[in-house]
Amino acid sequence: MDIQENYSCYDGYNGSIACAVAECKFNEKTNKYCTLRKIQVVKHEALAKDSKCTDCGSFMKLQ
Ligand code: SF4
Repeated sequence: MDIQENYSCYDGYNGSIACAVAECKFNEKTNKYCTLRKIQVVKHEALAKDSKCTDCGSFMKLQ
């Protein structure tokens, strides 16, 4: 199931989720926040050792 289908967007942005990923369709670029109400953080290593092992699983490419 696509995560974003269940995570609706704020009209503005979510001040609790700072994000500078301008390539994401959910990014609010002026203030650098996420516009989703909730995100899913995931890991792409069996054992995460540092922040480089984690990703935003809610990312969707800006069209
Ligand atoms: S979905 Fe993830 S990558 Fe996209 S703006 Fe929100 S926090 Fe950033």
